[in-house]
Amino acid sequence: MKILLVEDDVLLGDGIRAGLAQVGFVVDWAKDGREAELAVSAQVYDAVVLDLGLPLLPGLDLLRRTRASKNPVPILILTARDTVGDRIVGLDAGADDYLVKPFNLGELQARLRALVRRANSQVESVITHGALRLDSVGHRVTYEGRTVELSAREFTILHELLLNTGRVLSKARLEEKLYGWGEEIESNTIEVFVHHLRRKLSSQLIRTVRGVGYMIPKAAP
Ligand code: CA
Repeated sequence: MKILLVEDDVLLGDGIRAGLAQVGFVVDWAKDGREAELAVSAQVYDAVVLDLGLPLLPGLDLLRRTRASKNPVPILILTARDTVGDRIVGLDAGADDYLVKPFNLGELQARLRALVRRANSQVESVITHGALRLDSVGHRVTYEGRTVELSAREFTILHELLLNTGRVLSKARLEEKLYGWGEEIESNTIEVFVHHLRRKLSSQLIRTVRGVGYMIPKAAP
């Protein structure tokens, strides 16, 4: 899952990024409101973690502009402003959740997972598709009852395809999910990961749509 972190405090941002990466989130980190606005309009994120006090463009303005542009990305406000009035203003401006600093990293991780589930109309953290079972919290995959060891990136691709069954996802879209800013994208990686997934799970699971991308059909094979 790909998160946009908007935080100008370098020390705190570094800690949040590391903490989210630890549980498998890929994080782009914007350190001011303008950079964040560009990012959120250019990429599809699974969720945004938004600080309110930001240089160049305040967090609340960014939030209002994002919603004014009909962008439904789940947004969690993470701020030291903790009066009831602040929370009401933030939620009414279009935020989906609100967490007050200092906060517990595990709680932030869990709230983000909940936001992403809700955005995908999922009620549980486990997705099943035929003989395949993916647990997005425990980061476990089983196929026909046996545990399948997947790398973090193989897991991410499988998760993304399962969240979008019946839809073709382009290589570019899958690459966006795998890499944060500044990370070098190796060529042909998506093909290689899909090849590994087919070998470890089933050759029938993931379809190649030539010239477009990859898809897991809605009906399990
Ligand atoms: Ca700040």
